[in-house]
Amino acid sequence: EAKKAGKNQYSIYDNTSSENVSKRLDIENNMRQAVASEIQEFLVYYQPVVDAVTKKCTSCEALVRWDSKSLGFMGPSDFVPLAEYLGLITSIGDYVLEEACNQCRYWNEHGYPDFHVNVNLSVVQLLQKDVVKNIEKILLKTGVNPKNINLEITESFAINDMNRVLEIIKGLKKLGPRIALDDFGTGYSSLNYIKQLPLDLIKVDKTFIDDILEDEYAQAFVRLIVELSKTIGTKLVVEGVEHQEQYELLRGLGVHYIQGFYFGKPAAAKDFEQKYLASWKPEQ
Ligand code: C2E
Ligand code: MG
Ligand code: MG
Ligand code: MG
Repeated sequence: EAKKAGKNQYSIYDNTSSENVSKRLDIENNMRQAVASEIQEFLVYYQPVVDAVTKKCTSCEALVRWDSKSLGFMGPSDFVPLAEYLGLITSIGDYVLEEACNQCRYWNEHGYPDFHVNVNLSVVQLLQKDVVKNIEKILLKTGVNPKNINLEITESFAINDMNRVLEIIKGLKKLGPRIALDDFGTGYSSLNYIKQLPLDLIKVDKTFIDDILEDEYAQAFVRLIVELSKTIGTKLVVEGVEHQEQYELLRGLGVHYIQGFYFGKPAAAKDFEQKYLASWKPEQ
């Protein structure tokens, strides 16, 4: 039943047949309750990000899940778009950020002082009034070293008022976190935006990696972004690496960090810690 609800979400969203409208209302009501409830149904999973050369896990990405009592277990593609549409993503996003900051601080204090955690920010959340103050509050409350938090934003901000977006991102950066451009290459990529933003990391989307072994265009794209990132002084993360051959090719092209099922899938904090941190030691 949960899977069904999730898979059909986009059709539910577009299609106004009475059946779909009632399904959507069901998810909507459950989501409102989940956001308001003391009982936490939203969970944060962590996926390793690995140094391409040393293969050490140097950071991870926090990824939200919704374990709904009545709808079952859902991934973000099943509910984040609806949460954005309903304006609930800010509450969910704040919760994910707070969890991720607490977890990062814990790991930093328990043997992994330089470990970073990446957190996704929806453009809806980014454009919220007082977003910078709000995020500052969360950083202070959790006591995390803000330098160990990377905030991921997607290119979809580019359809909005660029001056406003720039001001917000500069404000966030002043708080200490690094700024990552997520899903690079899928949206409104314009080198003009890249030039204006104070970016620390660029994350190349999985769609470029899927056929990188066969497709010369995809290879040329990654080569180009490696050069660009050298020029503007950012680090490059490649997402969606599933095979050893892809990893080796990308390392050869000079990509700094790798994220993908080849190194590890998203997991709950304890599992993550056992699998990817216990075997990892900070460099001497
Ligand atoms: P994203 O930020 O680009 O995150 C990477 C997604 O790619 C994750 O999916 C991850 O599990 C998946 N992935 C990584 N490596 C591989 C691979 O090798 N193969 C395959 N097939 N997939 C891989 P996930 O967790 O389903 O998240 C999907 C998207 O939902 C995220 O894409 C992000 O845009 C959004 N999202 C997740 N958590 C949050 C959150 O807390 N807040 C907001 N606003 N959005 C979130
Ligand atoms: Mg991301
Ligand atoms: Mg991405
Ligand atoms: Mg994505």
